[in-house]
Amino acid sequence: MSDKDQTNEKWSRRNFIQTAAMTAAALAIPGCSRKEKPVLTTLVGDFDPLRSYPYRGWEDFYRKIWTWDKVVRSTHSANCTGSCSWKVYVRNGVMVREEQAADYPRISQDLPDYNPRGCQKGGCFVEYVYSPQRLRYPLIRTGERGEGKWRRATWDEALTLVAGKLLDNVYNHGPDTNTFFSVIPAMSPVSFCAGSRLAHYIGGVFLSFYDWYCDLPPGEPLTWGVQTEACECADWFNSKYIVLWGSNISQTRIPDAHFAYEARYNGAKIVCISPDYNSSATHADLYFRINPGTDGILALGVAKLLIDQNLIDVPYVKEQTDLPLLVLSGTKRFLRQSDLQAKGKEDVFCLWDTRQQRAVPAPGSMGSDQKTIQLNGVDPALTGGFTVTLADGKTVEVTTVFEMLKKELAQYTLDKVGARTGLPAHEIELFARELGTRKPAMIIHGAGTNHWFHNDLINRSFMLLVALTGNVGKNGGGFNHYVGQERVWPEHGFFQLAYPEGRKKQRFQNTTLWSYVHSTSKDPHLYNGKPIDWYIQESVKNGWMPLWPKGGRKPRAFVVWRANYLNQAKGNEILESSLWRDLDLIVDINYRMDTTALYSDVVLPAASYYEKVDINTTDCHSYIHPFGKALEPLFESKTDWDIFHALAEKMAELAAKKGLKPFHDDAFDWNRDFTQLAHDWTGKGTILTDEQAANFILANAPETKDMTYQQLQEKPRRFVATDPEAWNSDIEDGIAYTPFKHQLEKKRPWRTLTGRQQFYIDHPWYLELGEALPTFKEPVPEKYPLYWNTPHGRWSIHSTWRDHRAMLRLQRGGPIVYMHPEDARKRGLQDNDWVRIYNNIGHCVCRLQILPGEKPGRVTMYHGWEKYLGFQQGGWQSLTYIKIKPTQLIGKYGHVNFRLNYWGPTGNNRDIKVEIEKAKV
Ligand code: SF4
Repeated sequence: MSDKDQTNEKWSRRNFIQTAAMTAAALAIPGCSRKEKPVLTTLVGDFDPLRSYPYRGWEDFYRKIWTWDKVVRSTHSANCTGSCSWKVYVRNGVMVREEQAADYPRISQDLPDYNPRGCQKGGCFVEYVYSPQRLRYPLIRTGERGEGKWRRATWDEALTLVAGKLLDNVYNHGPDTNTFFSVIPAMSPVSFCAGSRLAHYIGGVFLSFYDWYCDLPPGEPLTWGVQTEACECADWFNSKYIVLWGSNISQTRIPDAHFAYEARYNGAKIVCISPDYNSSATHADLYFRINPGTDGILALGVAKLLIDQNLIDVPYVKEQTDLPLLVLSGTKRFLRQSDLQAKGKEDVFCLWDTRQQRAVPAPGSMGSDQKTIQLNGVDPALTGGFTVTLADGKTVEVTTVFEMLKKELAQYTLDKVGARTGLPAHEIELFARELGTRKPAMIIHGAGTNHWFHNDLINRSFMLLVALTGNVGKNGGGFNHYVGQERVWPEHGFFQLAYPEGRKKQRFQNTTLWSYVHSTSKDPHLYNGKPIDWYIQESVKNGWMPLWPKGGRKPRAFVVWRANYLNQAKGNEILESSLWRDLDLIVDINYRMDTTALYSDVVLPAASYYEKVDINTTDCHSYIHPFGKALEPLFESKTDWDIFHALAEKMAELAAKKGLKPFHDDAFDWNRDFTQLAHDWTGKGTILTDEQAANFILANAPETKDMTYQQLQEKPRRFVATDPEAWNSDIEDGIAYTPFKHQLEKKRPWRTLTGRQQFYIDHPWYLELGEALPTFKEPVPEKYPLYWNTPHGRWSIHSTWRDHRAMLRLQRGGPIVYMHPEDARKRGLQDNDWVRIYNNIGHCVCRLQILPGEKPGRVTMYHGWEKYLGFQQGGWQSLTYIKIKPTQLIGKYGHVNFRLNYWGPTGNNRDIKVEIEKAKV
């Protein structure tokens, strides 16, 4: 026995009892009374905490919890838009924990920094990696779809099945019957490109996601000619007036909400506009408990007040917007140069110059030779009516867009707006006055307002406010939409990797349209007396929207990765019983068993976020950082890159074995030699690994010039430049990124038909449907009493983390519908009751939570719950259906053309209404 052990032995149970008794006695003696300082001398000896004692091994065990063998930088790609850099700690071949990396370089000492970024979901991803939901092996369905009966397969068997079916479809049914769905390239572009490259080389149809999820704000392509452009979140700090409109940043922008709240210390006021008193409203200086679906009328009422009270920035409006452009009073079409001159252009527009008293061409129109919007001595009239002589000698009356806007806004009186929104008139006036005088001012825009059917009109009305007040293109100002992580900063490199032969050689498809047409979905409403099917046929016939497969054929194979199509699909039960039933093969590539995986035929296990190499960017900040392999993919899983590589190899192998001749794809005059597929897919053997793919993107984009994947493992890097073809502002040292400085400071034309922020759309359908200008339209009429609100929540990112043990413990552990106490009382409902939520589409059964912060007349269920996670019946999408807005089907109008995830009908879901009753369970 060692000396140490002998010493330890002295510390026996008897010693302990003796010492404890002495201590108690010492505390009991008069010297230890409360009045006198305790005498501790009696404790010296056995109570010395530094002396040795037995069983110290446990201390070492405890210390080892905080030891590790290696640390790898990674992140999460669940479409949270967070893009937070994390360190993953590995010990003995096990990922043990993660920690926020907190080393984003600071932009400027004048701005709060991005450190540390993260949320509670990211902080428990390690547990997900090892959870029972984790997919370990390839699976092939043995029961009915969704029944949960599977058998384990080898990779070779599963890939052979999938490869054979895809090839069979190409040769026997056409390449456009193979359909591919994945989402948000920005969050992991290498994984995205793995599948998009395969779709590209085999002629498959690639589906959109941003419009389908209704995250695309259609007002931006219409008004600004961009997909979405927003300032990075550090720029919120520069604002003096922040309007949280349909955006609950405390819940949905967890890593960035602090910038808005810190802005208050920099002199900002915060306005929160939301039907429910939510966790962001608690930070607001002014809170509007608005009636659901009335945001548009509030915006237009405020626009009227801004104009009536001379609170608009007139020089800005004249130079940067289409409001001074001339419109023919008779036809309501823009006055074009072609109207005035025999050889004039259709895409050059006109202003009334008050100095020359005549119509002159507006600089910077799409067809204009001048690539500037600088007015160069022209002083356009904003108001009034004028007479012009046309090329054929006739004289006609013209007026300005601004004059027409004033007439449109005249109906939105304070009384009317107050009554419809449920807001006090004096507070609406206060809002207008502050918005017009506190500079810079910004709207932070969210899904709360974007998910409505008339989202384009709502967007345009909001954008009008920040344009009238001259806030767009300025730090701290603008309309900033953060829903979905839509754009890859190193875009040029990404597109080359995603579609190597060019986007013109890729079949793209708007998913809302595809899902509607290929299912039994039916929108019962009429638009201007016509059903939506009429508008769809016209749009497809005119070549405005593509519809694959062509000629009435049905899609046959559906490959989904990095997404949960069926969980997110509006009317998913309608789709399940029609579109889904018609598919011969559904393949899901996933790291966890979700609803889409459960309803698939073949499930291929993918590496989790901590087991692969990729890169990650977001609109919320101007940095890039990596995914890293903390471990090789667990169990039999593979990275997305390796899975699609293996699938390409298997297809090439089968094509050779079957002696398939090259398939001539007439649509692109492309001879597709499938025996060479793997060779093509790997860039002729130059991009074999995911790290090579990441480096390919980095090397081919100005934003990431001279960066390598390995450097990103050291720390996040800020982008060094922006590609002027793709972006509308530069990256500037020491300044937070905000868009449209090129237009404001360099006078570059806007990317629209008129070259200006375009609030007037003179397309025939917009004129017919009364939407040429921003206007207010009521939500789609539905006969039930309660709005069905399904927002993004705090405890999951869509369906990811919905089934995480730790997250379920922070709620009631299952799907809940929130209801105002008054609505519950009227229906005799108690908190925690099982309730049946129903409408004419379907129903679901779940628990009720009574919430005083909810708006009467509306109920809320945070979205993403998988159907199998605690519903007694149905699911949150059982009550929804696809509604397509006719105006979102147009194309070939200057800047408004179909483009994947840029322009196409959105899959809105806020206009749905329901009733609730106590359920019999
Ligand atoms: S889940 Fe998203 S927001 Fe949360 S830590 Fe990860 S990247 Fe950040």
